[in-house]
Amino acid sequence: MSESSSAERPRRVDIAIIGGGLVGASLGAALAPLMRDRGLSVAVIEAAPLPDGLDAPWQPSFDARASAISRGTAHHFDRLGVWSSMAERASPIRCIHVSEQGRLGVTRLRAEEFGNEAMGYVIPNAWVGRVLHRRLAELPLGWHCPARVEGIHPLAGGHRLVLSDGACLEAGLTVMADGGRSGLKERLGIESRECPYEQVAVVTTVGLDRPHEGIAYERFTSAGPIALLPMTGQRMALIWTFAAGREREALSRSDADFLAHLQATFGDRAGRFRRVGERHAYPLSLVTASETVRPGLAVMGNAAHALHPVAGQGFNLALRGVMDLVAAIEAGLVRGDAPGDAATLNDFEARRSGDRDNVIRFSDGLVRVFGFDDPLLSRARAAGLVGLNLLGPLRRTLARRAMGVER
Ligand SMILES: Cc1cc2nc3c(=O)[nH]c(=O)nc-3n(C[C@H](O)[C@H](O)[C@H](O)COP(=O)(O)OP(=O)(O)OC[C@H]3O[C@@H](n4cnc5c(N)ncnc54)[C@H](O)[C@@H]3O)c2cc1C
Repeated sequence: MSESSSAERPRRVDIAIIGGGLVGASLGAALAPLMRDRGLSVAVIEAAPLPDGLDAPWQPSFDARASAISRGTAHHFDRLGVWSSMAERASPIRCIHVSEQGRLGVTRLRAEEFGNEAMGYVIPNAWVGRVLHRRLAELPLGWHCPARVEGIHPLAGGHRLVLSDGACLEAGLTVMADGGRSGLKERLGIESRECPYEQVAVVTTVGLDRPHEGIAYERFTSAGPIALLPMTGQRMALIWTFAAGREREALSRSDADFLAHLQATFGDRAGRFRRVGERHAYPLSLVTASETVRPGLAVMGNAAHALHPVAGQGFNLALRGVMDLVAAIEAGLVRGDAPGDAATLNDFEARRSGDRDNVIRFSDGLVRVFGFDDPLLSRARAAGLVGLNLLGPLRRTLARRAMGVER
C-alpha cells in the first residue's frame, strides 16, 4: 500500500473507504481480486495510527479484547486469504452453554451435534486488525494513515473527500466504515436512529483455575446477560451487562471484589475466577442508519448498525455485508455499471436487507426477552430455555445463527 502525501489536485479513485477498522480493512482485502482483474483503484483512510509495527513480534496480552466470530466469518476470511494467519490466535468454541440465574433450564449447543469441530472462534481484535492490515500492505491501494476525513461533498459521479493530511480524493463510490461516530454521514443528511437499552457492557479478560475446554457461556441474570468466551490459555473474555449506572460499582471494585462478585453471580460452572484484566465500559444502544445506500455512497459496519453484543453478531453481520458489496460491484462491472452507480448499490441493498433485518430483530429480541427483570418474561424465559432443549428446530435456528450460517 502506498503512504499518503499532500496533493494539490484531487486524486480520482473508484472506491474510497473511510475507516480502516475491522470492517473497512476487511472490505479493502475483499476488493483485492477486483483491483487485480478489473483495475479498480481503491483508497483506505484511517484516522488512528496503527498501534505497532505490522511485523513486530506479537506480544500476547492478558487484557486483549476479543470477538466471537462465526464459522461463516472464518469461511469468508479464508476466501480473503487471511484465515490461516487469523487461526494462529483463534480459540474454537466447541459448545455454547445458555442458562438463567435462578432457573433450572439449561441449553447446550455442541458443535459436534451439528457435524462441526467448532461453532465459531474467539480471536483478539488486535490480531484480526493486524492480519488485515498486513494483507492491505500487500495490495496496490492508497493507504492514508493516520489521516481523518474532515469533509465530504457530493459532486457529479461521487464525492470529494478532504483529508486532515492535506490530501483530497474524488471517489466514484465512498464507503462509510467509520464506526458511525465521526458525524460525516449526518453531514450528508443521513440520520442515526438510536434506541438506548439503558444498559452498559463491562468488558474484560478473566483467568480461570482450570481449562475452559472451548465452552462459551451465556448466562442471563436479573441484572443483565453475562457472556464468557474461551480464549487461548485459561483465559476467557467477559462481557457483563449492567443496568445503566450500575456498572460504576463494577468498575470501581478492587480486582478481588470484582472476582468475588462475578463468582457469586455466575456460579462455579466455568471454575474459579482467579485474575481479572483492565475493565472497559460500553453503553449499549441499537443504532441504525436511516439510509445505507445512495448513489456514490454505501454505509457499512457500525456506521450502518450497532447492535447489542449479547449475541456476538455485529461484526459477523458486517462481514457478510462486505462480501455482498463486493459481489454486487463485480456483478455491476460485468453489466457495465460503475461501483457507485445506483443499480449496483440497489443490488447490494437487495442482497443485504433480509439478513440485516433478521439479525437486528434476533439480537434485539434476545435482549428484550432475556434482558429485563420482569416476572412474566422470566416465566417465558424459563419455558424458552427448557423448551429449547425439546424443540429441535428452534435450537437448530439458534445454533445456525451462532455459527453464522443462518440468513
Ligand atoms: C462490547 C462489545 C463486544 C462485541 N463483541 C462482538 C463479537 O463477539 N462478535 C461480533 O461479531 N461483533 C462484536 N461486537 C461488534 C463489533 O465490535 C463491531 O461490529 C465492529 O467493531 C464494527 O467495526 P467497524 O469497522 O464498523 O467500526 P470501528 O471498529 O469503530 O472502526 C471504525 C474505524 O474508522 C476510523 N475512523 C473514524 N472516523 C474516521 C474519519 N473521519 N476518517 C478516517 N477514519 C475514521 C476509526 O479510527 C476506526 O478505526 C462487539 C461490540 C461491543 C461493543
